[in-house]
Amino acid sequence: MISPTAITDALTGLAAQIPVLVTANPVPFAVIAGFFVLIYAARAAARNRPVATDPSRLFSQAQRNEGFARAGGRCELDGFFFTRCKGQAHHGDHHFPWSRGGSTSMTNFVAACARCNTSKGAKIPSAWATMRMEARRRKYFPQGVPVKAGERFAHR
Ligand SMILES: [Zn+2]
Repeated sequence: MISPTAITDALTGLAAQIPVLVTANPVPFAVIAGFFVLIYAARAAARNRPVATDPSRLFSQAQRNEGFARAGGRCELDGFFFTRCKGQAHHGDHHFPWSRGGSTSMTNFVAACARCNTSKGAKIPSAWATMRMEARRRKYFPQGVPVKAGERFAHR
């Protein structure tokens, strides 16, 4: 049985070695640190880059009606463990957030319940989440309606 004190002591011992390692190998550690700084800077730049936003921010009533109808009135987002959420759709959600250049078009429209829409915020869904939704849509979208989720205003 390993005692908690032994673990703490081992970790403290390891932590004490860090300055020793860094002083012994300054160049590799500087390269690693520089790499992290670059990643951070690139991410910050990507966040602050201005995007072309759609002049119309809100979905029209006609778009909302069409979007709710094709979803059968049900939320389209991930619910419990990657299955479709069981909530009733009351919100027209931008798959790619409007503020991040998502278009106010049917391709970018996702029917969402209040809970999912609030928790999603201005996050861009992962490619994996997008694929899951498109696969589900094949089962409930009316015949001939494209299942593609997500469109950027600049690429319309
Ligand atoms: Zn939902």
